[in-house]
Amino acid sequence: AKAMSLADMNGLFKDHINPGQLHFMKLLGFNKIKVERAEGMYYIDQNGRKILDFFGGFGSLAVGHNHPRLIAERKAFQEEGRHEIAIAFMSQYAAALAKNLAAISPGDLDMVFLGSTGSEAMEAAIKVAERAVGPKRPKIVYAENSFHGKTKGVLSITDSPLYRGEFRLVDRNVRVPFGDIDAIRNAFESDPEIGVIVLETIQGGGGIITAPPEFWQELRLLCDKHGVIWVADEVQCGVGRSGRFYAFEHAGVVPDVTALAKSLGGGKTAMAAMIARREIYMKAYGSPKTAMIHAQATFGGIGEACITAIEALNILYDENLIENSAVQGAYLLSRLQALQAKYPKIIKEVRGQGLMIGLEFQDFSQTLPLVLRPVVSVLDDKLKGSLSGFIGALLLRDYATLVAFTEYNRNVIRLEPPLICGREHVD
Ligand code: PMP
Repeated sequence: AKAMSLADMNGLFKDHINPGQLHFMKLLGFNKIKVERAEGMYYIDQNGRKILDFFGGFGSLAVGHNHPRLIAERKAFQEEGRHEIAIAFMSQYAAALAKNLAAISPGDLDMVFLGSTGSEAMEAAIKVAERAVGPKRPKIVYAENSFHGKTKGVLSITDSPLYRGEFRLVDRNVRVPFGDIDAIRNAFESDPEIGVIVLETIQGGGGIITAPPEFWQELRLLCDKHGVIWVADEVQCGVGRSGRFYAFEHAGVVPDVTALAKSLGGGKTAMAAMIARREIYMKAYGSPKTAMIHAQATFGGIGEACITAIEALNILYDENLIENSAVQGAYLLSRLQALQAKYPKIIKEVRGQGLMIGLEFQDFSQTLPLVLRPVVSVLDDKLKGSLSGFIGALLLRDYATLVAFTEYNRNVIRLEPPLICGREHVD
């Protein structure tokens, strides 16, 4: 079938996909951009214009767009007619990916469940934790401004009216401010029904919020003391984005359960993993009777997605992308901090770790159009109108940088470029 024109796409989106999403894209000006291709650090539009990607698909493009090694690996897989469905026969590809993940993961984070989305991995995470801790401790502690996915189970620990709608959710969970160890201690001490705590190691949708290493170290001690299972959501900050493979490694501690997705599929495919400590996993699913309770979905561990993920991990290490994330991230942060010091009335704060950086403006709707005035004046005419709303793409003649704000705090621009990002891109 022939690809659709932009005009067709706008109409079809409204009629058949999601009128709300089209409205949102119009605010961003994204509905006027037709991306034809993507390569490395760039999207390329219908006019051959390159758009430097500092958005990175919400942090799902660690190895960049269309890495040639991933294309070659996938092509070979297809040409050899390899098998896909891991739920029918034991899959060598799923086994190999699980072995790789267990080797990369610290401590005894050894047992791996494969799925397709971050939400699915997080569902698997709260399920393994719930079974391991037992029925007498059904409550989960989660953080203010958390985002763990949009499926119904994890929606109950996702702190956002944006996504919660009026769905009927589990309401016995306990919300604490992110990074507040006293609030967590109080909750653990006062409520023996609490069995699990779920936290993003770096909050993404909430505005790129980090907590210091001491917070995670104290959390580990508190969880051990109270027998609470700590689930670290690394869907966005994992796979090298923070400058370590897992962001929790900066604190030198190991959670009981963790989850990866996004960049795990190399930006080419949907791949997600829940990884649990052996002891926790065995408590939950150690008996053969639980086989079906724990079995993956139809496409969990599908062959081509597994080989893509394995090759993406190889690239991450062969190209030193984790180290590069730390180096370029520190450079980007220092350049932005200098801007912040120069323009404190416009930029409120710059923060983050590795190539997961938040640039918080004092007042996005008021100040950003001012900041951008010189840029706006040389913008592509067709795009000018869309800038009155929230800015998503700054298209400057034939050069552009794609950025986006965080879901819950629109004063914050998230910078999550591919980890192949060089100093020249930062500049
Ligand atoms: N957890 C975190 C921290 C995320 O950022 C996201 C996605 N933005 C998810 C879970 C859900 O992942 P997915 O969209 O693949 O379901």
